[in-house]
Amino acid sequence: MFPALLFLLLGEVIAPARPPAPAYETVELFGHAYIRLQDWAHANGFAVKWPAQSKDVELARQGTRLLFTIDSRRAEINHVTVWLSVPVAQRNGAIYFSPLDLKTLIAPILSPTKNPPNTRIKTICLDAGHGGKDPGNQVGAHQEKSYTLLLAKEVRDLLGRAGFRVAMTRSGDAYPERSQRPEIARRARADLFVSLHYNSLTGDGSGTRGVETFCLTPAGATSTNARGEASDTRAVLGNLSNARSTLLAYQIQKSLVLRLGMEDRGLKRARFEIFRTAEMPAVLVECGFMSDPAEAQRIFDLTFRRRMAQAIVDGLIAYRNRVEGR
Ligand SMILES: [Zn+2]
Repeated sequence: MFPALLFLLLGEVIAPARPPAPAYETVELFGHAYIRLQDWAHANGFAVKWPAQSKDVELARQGTRLLFTIDSRRAEINHVTVWLSVPVAQRNGAIYFSPLDLKTLIAPILSPTKNPPNTRIKTICLDAGHGGKDPGNQVGAHQEKSYTLLLAKEVRDLLGRAGFRVAMTRSGDAYPERSQRPEIARRARADLFVSLHYNSLTGDGSGTRGVETFCLTPAGATSTNARGEASDTRAVLGNLSNARSTLLAYQIQKSLVLRLGMEDRGLKRARFEIFRTAEMPAVLVECGFMSDPAEAQRIFDLTFRRRMAQAIVDGLIAYRNRVEGR
């Protein structure tokens, strides 16, 4: 852990030289640093469409479409919802977005760096959420911990057939502590960590449905659902993998939404314990709401579970292909 932490501290100093990114003029608005969206769009070959009176701003170039909404943290990258750390702002006929979102969300998805040759993604650690003493969400007799394990086993089998090695944080009804789960991944030399969960709302949860994929909140940023979050936003070990975790979360969310047609709740940020000490890209997928009767039917159904497992595997393979340049 220490060399990684050292890198975290010295990263700016010892990182290999890269061509300098074009500088954009930074302004401060409402207590945040911002750059002009139009400046960035033009420098990167995007046409900007901003209809009069509209809050929606569309950026398009060959094969890529971005959608931003003024005063909102919700954005889209190629029709998949992503949540910004800082809302898009408007002032004097210009639109502004955060350089933090450019660096930690948009660039890692649109222009990921390639892994060095001969560093292949071989091992994936699957974490079936909850287990043992911790049932997770409960709807009637249905416990989340059972369905996360069933799904993890389907994903494991498909990954095995696709040529990956798979490690599991649990393969039965056990409860590894949350802090232990990234450690299990590390000992298995996992290249990626994927935690599987199902959502639930208390009370009448019908009508709220869809999938969302979380990765670690960047240092200095606020999580997507920040209620009750501690105010400590300093970098942690898991932040070393920020760019890759973001791309992984995006590819899985995209695959789930496009292949299964599920409601898109987006790529979100959280400081979950399992992310903080993970030494590899790590994501947590909330695979639907057990509290919505229609979605619950699909969650409890083997055929649909297999489709969902396939969509998760497709997202992992899309990620692998991007970073390995296949
Ligand atoms: Zn859960």
